[in-house]
Order: sequence, then C-alpha cells, then structure tokens
Amino acid sequence: MIPFLSLTRQYAGIANDVEQAVLATLRSGHYVLGEPVENFETDFAAYCGTDHAVAVNSGTSALQLALLAAGVGPGDEVITVANTFIATVAAIVETGARPVLIDVDPVTLNMDPAAIAQAITPRTKVVMPVHLHGRLADMEAILTVARSHGLMVVEDAAQAHGARRGKRAGAFGDLGCFSFYPGKNLGAAGEGGAVVTDDPELARKVRQLRDWGQSERYLHQIKGYNFRMDAIQGAVLGIKLPHLDHWNASRRRVANAYDKGLPPSLARATGPFGEDHACHVYAILPEDRDAFRAGLAEAGVATNSHYPRPVHLQPAFAYLGYSPGSLPVTEAYAQRTLSLPMFPELTPEETAQVIDAVTALVEKTDATRTIKEEFAI
Ligand SMILES: *Cc1c(COP(=O)(O)O)cnc(C)c1O
Repeated sequence: MIPFLSLTRQYAGIANDVEQAVLATLRSGHYVLGEPVENFETDFAAYCGTDHAVAVNSGTSALQLALLAAGVGPGDEVITVANTFIATVAAIVETGARPVLIDVDPVTLNMDPAAIAQAITPRTKVVMPVHLHGRLADMEAILTVARSHGLMVVEDAAQAHGARRGKRAGAFGDLGCFSFYPGKNLGAAGEGGAVVTDDPELARKVRQLRDWGQSERYLHQIKGYNFRMDAIQGAVLGIKLPHLDHWNASRRRVANAYDKGLPPSLARATGPFGEDHACHVYAILPEDRDAFRAGLAEAGVATNSHYPRPVHLQPAFAYLGYSPGSLPVTEAYAQRTLSLPMFPELTPEETAQVIDAVTALVEKTDATRTIKEEFAI
C-alpha cells in the first residue's frame, strides 16, 4: 500500500538531530516556552520575512489570538471561506464574532476576491483568506479590497509554510497564522502554532494573550489563555525549519509529476506548482469521488479528502443559516475532492504507481468535467 502520508520516513533522516535537541531540553528542566521556543521564534520570523513570530500551542490558537489582537469580538464579523478545515471558522466563533462565509474561485479554489465587497457590512472587521492546499490566495487583490474598506487581513497559512510570491505566506496580511500539527509542511512532535506580524503592538498583544493576559508576572491586564508552546516543540521545530525549503521543493516535484502524468481529461486542482504553492495537498476532482477512492484503495493507493463536507454545511454551524446551494463552487468542490499521496519522501516509483492507478480508473469512469465547466464560468 502506498501511504497517503508517512512521517516516519522524514523522521529517519533527522532523528539524531531531533533526539539530541529533545534530550537537551528534557535535561534543561525548562519545559514551557524558554530558549528553544525563543530561538525558533527568531528563526521563523526571519524565514517568513516578518519582524515578529509568536509561538503558541496550536494553529487554532494562533488564529484565535490573531483575531483577538486585531480587536475582533462579539458583534463583529469576519469574512472567510467555507472551503477550509473547521478550525478557521471555529477560531472566529471562539472570539464571539460571526463568520461570514464567501465562495471560492473555481480555478484556484481559494477565496474569490470579487466576492468580498458584497459581504462587507458595517460590522466587518477582518478578512481571513486561507491558502488552501498550500496555494497562496490572491493576496494582492484581497488586500486591495480590504484596505479600501479599512479592514484588517489575517492569513490562515496553516497549510502554506514557505509558499512565496515576492513575500512569503503569512507576511502579506496584518497577521499570519501557522499550524505545526505533525502532518503540516512544518510539523512538530505534537501540537504547535505561530502568529507572525510586522506590527510590534500586535505581536505584544498575542504574547500577552497566550500567557494568561499577563503584562508582568501575576498582573493580568486582560483576559488571556494558556496557549504557550512547549519547549520540546520549539526544539523540534528549530531542527526541522532549515529543511523546510527542500521538503517543499520535493513536494513540488511530486505535484508536477502528478500534473504531467495524469490523464489531461481528469479534473484536478490546477497547476503548475511553483514557489507560490507549498503543495500541502494534491487534489483530483473525479466526478464520483467515493467510487474513485474505493478503486484506488483496491489498487493499493491510500487517499484522503480535504474536505468532504464544507464548513457551512456542518451541523455545528447550522445556526449561521447557510444551506445547500449557498456556496455552489465550494459545494461542488467538496463533493469531488480527493487527495493523492503527498509528502516529500514519496519516491518517483511510488509517484508513477499512483499515476498508473489513477489513469487505469479514469479509463473506466467519466472523471472529466471540471468545476469550471460545471458552472459554465
Ligand atoms: C491545520 C489547520 C488549522 C488548525 O491547526 P491546528 O494546529 O490543528 O489547530 C487551521 N486552518 C487550516 C487551513 C488548517 O489546515
């Protein structure tokens, strides 16, 4: 079976360095924040090209604290997409604000900048694009709309570490949020996250919020949280960060091999896969996803689906009042999306095997219509 994701292969290549760093941390007696986390914050800010990085305990916490630092709270609205992992929207709800969900562009599958303006109300505070699959959203257009309405921009860059178009993911908006969940392009040995920003005041606010709202020890100026990063995660991430660019390059090689090798008639997330794409996920869009998925499993190819039910149709968010048909492109995509094996250590032989298995299935099924054609766009 070709795995959808293997973390053990990557670990084998860095085991000595990681184990030394973790052992040193264990022996140091300092287990929360501390030097390994501070060093990682410095390195990660430099990598992203921002003045500040604040490490937290998950990507979800990063999003929540970024929004709180931006001043979002009850009565406010945050515009984002439903074509994302649940955490994007859940983080908005945690602040007390209302998520306003807009549709995605049928080619990029990211936030459609043209849909922002009509979603803006006097309550709108923030626009929160997601770099789905690692592909940079159209930040230039999104920033233009947001700035013209005086709105802040918070990037959900949880899938896009290192993606670059001039700037790197996370460095375009007022604040950028990352997850270091183990399966992400840069993963900890457990949970982790970070907020990056150029604004010293926003960075200070996120730092204060992650540590119980303290401005000094036991002086709690504002309501805060225990969202600090563990020292061990800082140590592991510090070892892994220098590898990120070559891991992303390997992901791009896999994605471009898929793009070139798969039958041209098969609908898929569009390439080419250049520097603006961190290739966290490679998705194909067969018409009958579930049958296709079963067929690939039979052929020895493990797959996943990111994400089969869009956020606006999740029972937990029924109260927002969306229904089937509210976001047609997002819904069509969710019905079809199927993620092929994608990780830096996937071998050329395995990549070729995946291509062969998909090609054999395409020859048996009608997998051809694109989302674009479906909507006659
Ligand atoms: C993974 C992910 C998150 C949440 O990150 P956690 O570290 O799991 O809390 C948020 N948004 C997106 C788009 C993600 O992929």
